[in-house]
Amino acid sequence: MNTTIESFTQLELRAPILQALSDVGYETPSPIQAACIPHLLAGSDLIGQAQTGTGKTAAFALPLLNRIDLSVKNPQILVLTPTRELAIQVSEAFQRYAKHLPGFQILPVYGGQSMVVQLRQLNRGAHVIVGTPGRVMDHIERKSLNLESLTALVLDEADEMLRMGFIDDVEWILSRTPETRQTALFSATMPDRIRRIAHRYLREPQEVKIKSATTTVTAISQRFVQLGVQHKLDALTRILEVEEDFDAAIVFVRTKTATVELAEKLEARGYAVAALNGDLTQQLRERVVEQLKRGTLDIVVATDVAARGLDVPRITHVINYDIPYDTEAYVHRIGRTGRAGRAGTAILFVTPREVRMLKDIERATRQKIELLPLPSREAVADRRVLQFTQQVEAVLKSEDLSFFLDVVRNLEAAGEAELHEIAAALAFLAQRERPLQLPPAVGRDIADIAQGRPERTERFERSERFDRTERPARPEHASRENREQILERRRDYAEGKLERYRIEVGRNQQVTPKDIVGAIANEAGIESRFIGQINLYEDYSTVELPATLPEDLLAVLRRVRIRQFMLGIRRLDEEESRRDAARKRPGFSPKPSDKPRKPFRDDRRPDFSGAPRKGHGGKSRT
Ligand code: AMP
Repeated sequence: MNTTIESFTQLELRAPILQALSDVGYETPSPIQAACIPHLLAGSDLIGQAQTGTGKTAAFALPLLNRIDLSVKNPQILVLTPTRELAIQVSEAFQRYAKHLPGFQILPVYGGQSMVVQLRQLNRGAHVIVGTPGRVMDHIERKSLNLESLTALVLDEADEMLRMGFIDDVEWILSRTPETRQTALFSATMPDRIRRIAHRYLREPQEVKIKSATTTVTAISQRFVQLGVQHKLDALTRILEVEEDFDAAIVFVRTKTATVELAEKLEARGYAVAALNGDLTQQLRERVVEQLKRGTLDIVVATDVAARGLDVPRITHVINYDIPYDTEAYVHRIGRTGRAGRAGTAILFVTPREVRMLKDIERATRQKIELLPLPSREAVADRRVLQFTQQVEAVLKSEDLSFFLDVVRNLEAAGEAELHEIAAALAFLAQRERPLQLPPAVGRDIADIAQGRPERTERFERSERFDRTERPARPEHASRENREQILERRRDYAEGKLERYRIEVGRNQQVTPKDIVGAIANEAGIESRFIGQINLYEDYSTVELPATLPEDLLAVLRRVRIRQFMLGIRRLDEEESRRDAARKRPGFSPKPSDKPRKPFRDDRRPDFSGAPRKGHGGKSRT
C-alpha cells in the first residue's frame, strides 16, 4: 500500500477531475485509492481486495475517467455490479467525478428497467456502461451494446456476483470483450473461483489489499448503531442527549463539506460545535483545538486528516458518523478518546451496506463492538426531566433565592393559584427552549427502525408510561383514549386520509414548501409521507395532514416557528377547505396576490438531516 500519497494532486489526474474532487470535498485519497490509482493510471490490470465504504468506486472511476475520449461515443468502460442499487450508486459516483468533462455520458443498465428506453439510450451512445450481468448479456446478444471500443472492464463486488450466481454470466461477458482491455477486479473476499477467474482473464495483475491493523484498545468502550443514512443526524442528537459521562466529542465524517454541514446542523440545535478540516489554516486549527480544550467548544466535526494527532483529554466520545475506510483509520480515530488514562467511548454508525466493515474492525481491534440501541424519544424525554430536576435541586442548594421567593409569594398572595401550580407554570416557562415532553412520533420511530421493531402505537405506550409513573394525565392527553380509537386513527393514517390545515406563514414570510415539510416532520415527528399538498399564499399557507391529528400534537405544531413566525396551525372548516380546493382547480383564477404556488408534493422521506430552518430549531442543550 502506498502511504506516501497525501493529496489527489500527487496523482496524475487531469485538471477537470481534480476540480470535481475539490467540489465534492474529498480531502485526501483513501488508502485503497492511493494504492490503486497509480496502477490503473499506468494501465495495469488490478485485483483490489476491498469492500464498500473503502472508497473503492473512486479508486477505479478516477483513473479510468482520466483517459476517456469524449469524442468516441461507443462505450469505453464497462462496470459489472451484482445489484441494480450498486449500478446506480456507481453511475452516480462516475457522474460526480465527471462533472467537468463536457458531454460525458454514462448509462446504468439493469433488469427491471424498460428495455425500450435502454435500447434508445444505448443507441444515443454512452462513454461508460454500468450494469448487472444479466442485462448486459441481453444487450450483447441483441447487439445493442457495442464493445468494440471498450478499453477497460471493472468487476465490482466480484464475490457478491459469485454468491448471487452471476459468475458464469460474468465469464461469458469477459470472453466477449476485446483482449486488449484493462481489467480491474474488486472483491471483499477472494474465494477460489474468483481467484481462478482473475488468473484466467487478468494480465499480470497488481494486487492491492488494505491491511488490517490489529491493535487492542481496552480503555475504550466500543459500540455501534445500525441505521439508515437519513437517520444519522437524529440518531446523533439523541445519543448526545442521553449519553452519561458526556463531556466532549469528536465526530468523524468523510468530507470537508460534511464537516461544515454537520457542524452547522448541530449548532442550530444548540451545541457548541466547530468544523475541523484541511481547509483551515494552522492558526484556525489551533484555535479550534484550544477552544475544545478550554470547554468553549464541546463538539468538533472532523475529517481523518484534520484530526490527526489531536490530543484533548476531555474528549469522552468519538462518534464515527461516517464509517472509516479501513480498520487502521478506525483505530486512529478512536484513539482520540480514552487519553491520559481516562475512559472513553467510541460509537460507530453502520449503514446496512457497511456491516462487513464492522466485522473487520472487531477482528482488528480484537474486541466485540456492542450494539447500542438507539435511545427512544421517551428515553430522551426522561433524560431531560432528570437533568431538569437536578438543575432545580442544585439551584435550591446553592443560590440565594430571596428575591425570587418574594416574586412567588406575591403570586401566591394574589390567590389565583396554589404554590405547586405556580411552580408548574415556572417549570413550563423554563423548559420552553428544551421541552421536557417530546411530541409523539407519527409513523415509525427511528429507534424502532434501527432495532427492526414493528410499528407501534406510540401514543398508547406513552399513556401507559404516564400511568406507570403516576403522572397526572392532562385532560386532552392520550391516556383518555381507548385502544380502539388509537387503532382507528392509525388506520386513518395508513389509508392516507388527509385534511387541510391552515398555517400562519406564507410567501411574505419567505417560507418554502421544504421549510414547511421540514418543520412539521422535525418538530412534530410526522413523516413526510403523511404530509400532502402545500399551497402557499401571501400571508398564510394550507397543508394537507392526517385528518386525525390529535389535539396535543396540534398544540405542539401551533407553537412551532418557521423564520420566527409561529405556525398557529388550525383545521380549515368545510367551507374554507372547499374554497381552498376550488382555487387549485384548473380554470379558477384567484386574485394575483392569492394565487397558490405550484402544489408541492414530496413522496420521499423527510430530509431529517436537511439544513436547519432558522427560527424554529429548539436548543438541545441548556
Ligand atoms: P465506496 O467505498 O466507493 O462505496 O465509497 C464510500 C463513500 O466514501 C462514498 O460516499 C464516497 O463518496 C466516499 N469517498 C470515497 N472516496 C473518498 C475520499 N477520498 N474522501 C472522502 N470521501 C470519499
